[in-house]
Amino acid sequence: MLDVALKMINTISDNGYEAYIVGGFVRDYLMGKKSNDVDITTNAKPKELLDIFPTAVIDNADYGSVTVYFKDIRFEITTYRVEENYSDNRHPDTIIYVDNLDEDLKRRDFTINTICIDKFGQVCDKLQGKEDIGKRLIKTVDDPFVSFAHDALRILRAIRFATTLDFELDFLVREAIKENRYLLEELSFNRKKEELNKIFGSTNLIKGVTLIKDLELDSILKLDKIDKVKKCSQVIGVWTILEVDNIYPFTRNELKLMKDIRRALKENPLKVETLYKYDLYVCSVAAELLGISKKDIANVYSKMSIHKRGDIVIDTHDIIDYLKIEEGPIISELWDKLERAILNNEVTNDKKQLLSLVEKIYTKLSN
Ligand code: ATP
Ligand code: MG
Repeated sequence: MLDVALKMINTISDNGYEAYIVGGFVRDYLMGKKSNDVDITTNAKPKELLDIFPTAVIDNADYGSVTVYFKDIRFEITTYRVEENYSDNRHPDTIIYVDNLDEDLKRRDFTINTICIDKFGQVCDKLQGKEDIGKRLIKTVDDPFVSFAHDALRILRAIRFATTLDFELDFLVREAIKENRYLLEELSFNRKKEELNKIFGSTNLIKGVTLIKDLELDSILKLDKIDKVKKCSQVIGVWTILEVDNIYPFTRNELKLMKDIRRALKENPLKVETLYKYDLYVCSVAAELLGISKKDIANVYSKMSIHKRGDIVIDTHDIIDYLKIEEGPIISELWDKLERAILNNEVTNDKKQLLSLVEKIYTKLSN
């Protein structure tokens, strides 16, 4: 990945601009971790980058960065600039481009995110980021009280990096977070959710949850049930426990999953009826929350003769034809009993046997 990234910055350099790899990729590279994408910082402006990379997409005209895919790697190329969020009140949210790297690095959040790699593959570490990686420390570039006041998202980013990298927050970072925590209210729930997803999606999530509690961010984040959070391999499992369905933005699919997981929790996810009703994923998440092993649930699932209605060899038409009846509420009652009988191995999933059972059930129901 580094070789591809070096090619990218050399292409920018061949066009007469400066360019460095920066941010998460360099941090993760120095820690021997894999990155998903690469951030590049350059003095080329977005328009100039579009000339160099015709397939580039401007993410957001106000944000001043472009995205390029090269060899399946996502590159986020940002023009040297100073902080855009805190600009004086006359020009809020305008980007101020600058022409040197040092100024660009100073507007960044944490020292560990300021380390660069130049076009020769040399690491340049102007703000002692490597030292803080060595100390496993989250330290802001600027005075933390100023830094968090400028951009409250950094509060959540600090907790996110402490969680995913298993680093500690610098003493003053902790103090500044406590003092500025009320600023989190200004952030949209969308942005909060994006960061919280990264915290809850980490195998080290309990550290993040503990930090949220210790720094007393839970009530500002509306995470009143945070005490109940347990380790869960699925982010949706954590959100299910938090019960913030009406506060944070969720997709329809996420809302349905959370509802189903809660039902499966109540109905016992190890039961064949529950597994049949909600599917393996929902029951696996519910089982994990209950401390039931994946193996146990997979074992029950693999022994089930049917997993969904489609697995049953007869359908509603067969029933109607066989019984010579009209569609009606009795059909759904019939199905309930039939499904239960198959799941409990009282009948095999065979057309003849099923239809004969259907007849018996029907006779009982209509008497
Ligand atoms: P990852 O990509 O692994 O999630 P990252 O550190 O690369 O982590 P990005 O969101 O990709 O995070 O941002 C790239 C870089 O831009 C950061 O490393 C940091 O230098 C800078 N940056 C991002 N967000 C902020 C912010 N809110 N305030 C200051 N600098 C920021
Ligand atoms: Mg990044």
